[in-house]
Amino acid sequence: MSLAKAYAAKAANEPLQPFTFERRAPNDDDVVIDILYSGVCHSDIHQAHNDWFPGIFPMVPGHEIVGRVREVGAKVSRFKEGDTVGVGCFVDSCLKCQQRDVDREQYMMEQLALTYNGTDRDGMPTYGGYSDHIVVREGYVLSVPDNLPLDAAAPLLCAGITLYSPLKHWKAGPGTSVAIVGLGGLGHMGVKLARALGAEVTVISQSLAKKDDALALGAHHYYASSDPETFVTLAGRFDLVINTVSAAIDWNAYINLLKIDGTMVLVGIPDNPVPVNAFALVGGRRSLAGSAIGSIKETQEMLDFCGEHNIVSDIELISIDQINEAWERVVKSDVRYRFVIDIASLK
Ligand code: NAP
Ligand code: ZN
Repeated sequence: MSLAKAYAAKAANEPLQPFTFERRAPNDDDVVIDILYSGVCHSDIHQAHNDWFPGIFPMVPGHEIVGRVREVGAKVSRFKEGDTVGVGCFVDSCLKCQQRDVDREQYMMEQLALTYNGTDRDGMPTYGGYSDHIVVREGYVLSVPDNLPLDAAAPLLCAGITLYSPLKHWKAGPGTSVAIVGLGGLGHMGVKLARALGAEVTVISQSLAKKDDALALGAHHYYASSDPETFVTLAGRFDLVINTVSAAIDWNAYINLLKIDGTMVLVGIPDNPVPVNAFALVGGRRSLAGSAIGSIKETQEMLDFCGEHNIVSDIELISIDQINEAWERVVKSDVRYRFVIDIASLK
C-alpha cells in the first residue's frame, strides 16, 4: 500500500478538497505511475454531481492521465521505470472479453473497472487522476509518443479517443462532410482529428464567439446554432454529425442536417432524455447512434496517430487548488479548450 495525495468530492455536489488515501499494493502485472498531468473532463462533473447514477464517494475524479513509470511488477514486459505513459477511462476489465473482443471492450460495461467511480480488481473503489500516483494493470497502460507535450497530451486519453473512435467507425475522411456540435473539450479534439483524417469539417456552436478559434483549429466552416438560418442553410449537408453537447438540445434539428443515409452520433451525455421525431430519421434513412470512448487498442492507435500528426489539446494549465473554479467555468462553456491539472501542485 502507498499513501496517495489527492483532491476528492466527499459527497455529491460538494466542492473538491484535499484528500489522502491508500493505493493498493502493486501485483506482478501492475505498473505504478507518478502522475504528471490530469485533464478535466465534463464527465468528472456529471459524476461528482450524480447526474447519471449515484456515485461512489469520496470520489477522486480524473481519467485523462499522463505520468511517468515509477516501478513495474516482475511480469510487466512493455514498460520500464521512467517511461512516459497514459491512462484513460478504465483500468481493468474481464480478461476473457479482452481476449475475445479486444476492440470493443469499452462496451463491456459490467466488467469494466472505471478509472474512478468504479471497483478495482481488489474489490475496493477506484480513485482517479486528481492524485499523485496510480497503480494500473499493464494491459490498461498506454504509451504516449515522445514528441507530444505531456500536459497537452493528457486530454487525448478521453476527449481524443472519444472523437477518434466514431470518426474512424463512420469512416470520416476525404469526400465526407462532418459536423461537430459543441466546441468544448471533446468538440475541439473532433475538429483537429476530423481535419487530419481528411474530412470537410463544420463546427456548430451556440454563438459566433468561438469562430476564429474553430477556424484556427482546422474547421472549414462555422455556424451558430442561435441563428435559425443555420438549420436552413445546412439542411441535408452532412454524412456525419457528432454531437458533443453536455446538455439536452433538440436532436431533431441536427438530424435534419444529415444527408440521406447520414448518421448523427451522440457522444455528449445529457442527464435528461431527448424526444426524437420518427420523421427526422425515416425521412432520409438516417441513423441516430451513440459512441463511448474506445478500446485500449484503438486508444493506442489514436495516440500514435496524434504523434504522427502532432495533434494535442489546446489547454489551460491549472494548479489543483483552482479546480473548483475550473469546474464552474466548464459548466458555463468557458474553457478554451481543456483544463489540465499540473499534478506537481499537489506535492
Ligand atoms: P465541455 O468541454 O463542457 O463541452 C461541451 C460543449 O457543449 C460546450 O463547450 C458547449 O459548446 C456545448 N454546450 C454546453 N451546454 C450547452 C447548451 N445548453 N446548449 C448547447 N450547447 C451547449 O464538455 P466535454 O468534456 O467536451 O464533454 C461533453 C459531453 O460529452 C459531456 O456530457 C461528457 O460527459 C460527455 N463525454 C462522453 C464521452 C463518451 O465516451 N461518449 C466521453 C467523454 C465525455 P459551444 O460553446 O461551442 O456551444
Ligand atoms: Zn472523459
